[in-house]
Amino acid sequence: MIRIMVWNEYKHEREYENIRKVYPEGIHGCIAGFLGKEEDFAVRTATFDMSEHGLTEDVLRETDVLIIWSHALQDEFSDEVAERVQRHVLAGMGLIALHSAHYSKVMKMLLGTSMTLKWRHGDNEKLWCTAPAHPIAQGVPEMIELSKEEMYGEFFDIPKLDDVVFTGWFSGGEVFRSGCTFSRGLGRIFYFQPGHEEYPIYYKPEIQKILVNAVHFCTPVLKERTNLENREIKH
Ligand code: ZN
Repeated sequence: MIRIMVWNEYKHEREYENIRKVYPEGIHGCIAGFLGKEEDFAVRTATFDMSEHGLTEDVLRETDVLIIWSHALQDEFSDEVAERVQRHVLAGMGLIALHSAHYSKVMKMLLGTSMTLKWRHGDNEKLWCTAPAHPIAQGVPEMIELSKEEMYGEFFDIPKLDDVVFTGWFSGGEVFRSGCTFSRGLGRIFYFQPGHEEYPIYYKPEIQKILVNAVHFCTPVLKERTNLENREIKH
């Protein structure tokens, strides 16, 4: 079994009627719903309001892949919990950061750049697969049309990456590295841009396929979490 934790800030869905209509169970509920249909996935959820944001040491130790969606409470997110997540990724846990989670403390700590980008509400996107041989692209069409999505545009201030699996084109003319992979320590990271809270992006089967593939890709290769710090140095 692959043990997945879907973490969501869960603020917009509770505060705004129009967003609650799109995601009545929260974005985490929608994502956990379709991931839970996979035979080899064991899925749990946690949200910001839980003690330690629901991401305690015990929870992370029993998580193979952590999926995060965040936006309005990035600054309020606990430094201590962010450092804990970073440590687990370096020791092998997989991480999938969705949409505005590019700007989460966890992603800034792991990637080390400003993570800034351009944005504009109410655009539409053609999401092109730009690495068809990549494991995350298997069974995914070469282009996915998202009739409503928030524009995220370059320059996206991320460090040198492993692969750009998807590139977004927006009707305003902007392009964006919408699906990218990174390696940090022993962990694999996938950042995926689609998923603005006002639009039903995570109900689309093609998007669900990408996230299922991403879970497999980010699943740790090593069975044991391996802390690379404090290793004895032998001469
Ligand atoms: Zn957004």
